[in-house]
Amino acid sequence: MNLADSESLARQLLAAGYVEAPDIERADIAVLNTCVVRQASEDKVYSKLHELRAWKTPDRTIALTGCLVRKEGEELKQRFPHLDAVVPIGDYAPFVGELDARYDWAQGEPLPVAGRTGISHYVNVIQGCDHNCTFCIVPRVRGREVHVPINQVLAECRQSVAEGAREVVLLGQNVDDYRDPGGAGGLASLVRAVQELDGLSRVRFMTSHPQDLEMELLEVMATFPKVAHELQLPIQSGDDRILKRMARGYQVRHYRAIVERARQLMPELGLYTDVIVGFPGETEEMFLNTRRLLEKLEFDVVHLAQYSPRPGTFAATRWADDVPAEEKKRRINDLLELQRGIAGRRTRRWIGRTVEVLVEGSDELGRPYGRNRQGKRVIVKRARASAGDMVEVLIEEATPGQLAGTMAA
Ligand code: SF4
Repeated sequence: MNLADSESLARQLLAAGYVEAPDIERADIAVLNTCVVRQASEDKVYSKLHELRAWKTPDRTIALTGCLVRKEGEELKQRFPHLDAVVPIGDYAPFVGELDARYDWAQGEPLPVAGRTGISHYVNVIQGCDHNCTFCIVPRVRGREVHVPINQVLAECRQSVAEGAREVVLLGQNVDDYRDPGGAGGLASLVRAVQELDGLSRVRFMTSHPQDLEMELLEVMATFPKVAHELQLPIQSGDDRILKRMARGYQVRHYRAIVERARQLMPELGLYTDVIVGFPGETEEMFLNTRRLLEKLEFDVVHLAQYSPRPGTFAATRWADDVPAEEKKRRINDLLELQRGIAGRRTRRWIGRTVEVLVEGSDELGRPYGRNRQGKRVIVKRARASAGDMVEVLIEEATPGQLAGTMAA
């Protein structure tokens, strides 16, 4: 989502006649787009701001946008006097106006923004989140949900395809909640409409929520060939008591029912999840329930995190962070080890099979790479292919993280 926001600001600056500097030393303006989902992300922003102190001159501008703005607001300027502007997420026009007033420069013709979009274009279809998971700071910093009208999403996608995009990624903190404000339907209708666009090769969406995902969406995924067979579906814990404490709104059996149905419709579905270990009150037995679930469901990728209290969240206010750091580490390492084996098995099953790869670019050895329909990264060996090509690749090698093979005849 931050990538999509950065892109939107970059487009507005380019349209106003600014150009992208090749490095910070040659730049006049630096904008930090910030994330606060974990303390580590937030600390990174502060250290970057400290670093920029040496770069700052009276002629240079430092601006900050993203989630930290909602969390800390204008106070940031007091803490960091060299910070010139604090820009709310998505509301970039006044900032661009201030820059124009500040830099009294001879503004020429706006520069063409075409070609900025890479092969993948990210579109925020929902801003904010209406859930209140007890560990999460997102609703506080991104606010309540605002849904972008379907026609506006389609217009943006059409434009990006005209500029060279071949894949559209529809984004929302909880993308399954999507509803067109004009009543034209939910996420399933949106995905169906986007995949009809001429010139587009693939549609992906993230992140799903087990409480809101509709079976109709799974049917749309299975029916239309441009839609990726990929679900980013965070479970967070495999124990119902912890899920309840997290206020996730579903139980393990609901989650399993979704996966079962999805795999019935798409046997090769790429399944990605998030898990937090060491949530307040998580006993060894509860942890083992999560472990068993991972063994049972065999995810392609599990994003693992150790619980860390975020000030201002319900969990941080209400419960002590009572799982010792050492124990959290042991639990996360145990799951990492388990998942490494599962991911290895999951990728090895592709060896000897032909997959469809949308080429995104070339790696440092000049080999084209992209993703298959299930979202797995694939390297194409001994072949020439340009970004945007859809190629058939016979898989010959597999590691837990990626596949590699040669172009099929
Ligand atoms: Fe945070 Fe996701 Fe829960 Fe929303 S659904 S509160 S973004 S964890």
